[in-house]
Amino acid sequence: GATIGILGGGQLGRMLSVAAARLGFSSHIYEPGANPPAAQVAAQVTSADYTDEQALRRFARSVDVITYEFENIPTEALDILEEDRPIHPGREALRVSQDRLTEKTFLQALGLKTAPFADIDSLDSLEAALKTIGTPSILKSRRFGYDGKGQVRLRDPGEAKRAFSEMFGAPSILEGFVDFQREVSVIAARGLNGEVACFDPGENVHRDGILHTTTVPARLSGAQRADAVLLAGQILNALDYVGVLGVELFVTGEGLVVNEIAPRVHNSGHWTQNGCTVDQFEQHIRAITGWPLGDGRRHLDVVMENLIGDAVETAQDLAREPGTALHLYGKAEVKPGRKMGHVNRITGPAGGS
Ligand code: ATP
Ligand code: MG
Ligand code: MG
Repeated sequence: GATIGILGGGQLGRMLSVAAARLGFSSHIYEPGANPPAAQVAAQVTSADYTDEQALRRFARSVDVITYEFENIPTEALDILEEDRPIHPGREALRVSQDRLTEKTFLQALGLKTAPFADIDSLDSLEAALKTIGTPSILKSRRFGYDGKGQVRLRDPGEAKRAFSEMFGAPSILEGFVDFQREVSVIAARGLNGEVACFDPGENVHRDGILHTTTVPARLSGAQRADAVLLAGQILNALDYVGVLGVELFVTGEGLVVNEIAPRVHNSGHWTQNGCTVDQFEQHIRAITGWPLGDGRRHLDVVMENLIGDAVETAQDLAREPGTALHLYGKAEVKPGRKMGHVNRITGPAGGS
């Protein structure tokens, strides 16, 4: 079978490798860090930096197709890799999603709703933006943020100076606070031939900026569910996308507001491992290898809960719970805020949607 090259050896790379193996593919992980979770399951691992041109070329030539588990891969590395092998999802998806300013501009150009936002590059620009966007609002670094990192909340325009200094000069955007009823996400896939398939939207609850649970079915009306799936398809087509995409949405009285998109498998799609015949990881592997997309219909109601930091110490107890599927990432060191695993609790046969 073919070899899948995966940039990044975290839990997402690990679960992609497992899905690839089930379809008879082998995987080759590229990861600068030592002992990545994916190394325990992949056939091959390259431990090198994204600046190591020779290592990048050898990696590319050893695989048939390249994908990734995170969106912050340096452009220069992508340029080198792309000389030898296709990268899916493609460069446009990465360009758009690596930068919150580009991302929101792209989404608005598609006619989708986002939080009001402004480009911030100085204290003056922040003070000016606060006059139109107001408070509460959130100052977010344009690049590299995840799990709520690189964000400062403002309750009052008087906090501008403090908030600006907390960003240490990073190019940022100011976002108006969206008064949402709930947060949902759509995990969507598009194949090499343009076919599109979406998983049922999940409802997400965050704790301390980190995803805590995803529940399916989400509490959405039929119209909201249709809107969510249609807008995800619109984004996929606009990017000529190949692979799985995560779309985070705020549900408001005035319709769905897009928070952000992730050009990869997504934590809020982990429920599909136990709720669907074909899960998001297999769907991604199918898409990037030109296979037909699989049947992602939901057969069960599921609550996915992340095991963060020492919550993983309850694993033995969870293993005893009926209807509970445990997924551990094999990370040796427990750290606060670190995603160590997740559980999918089956709460019933598919209902609701
Ligand atoms: P992720 O780990 O999902 O990539 P992130 O660091 O990119 O997270 P966001 O998704 O932008 O951060 O924000 C994290 C959470 O903060 C959101 O899921 C939401 O709960 C809240 N949030 C972010 N932006 C807004 C907003 N404009 N209005 C209201 N809540 C917001
Ligand atoms: Mg994000
Ligand atoms: Mg997010």
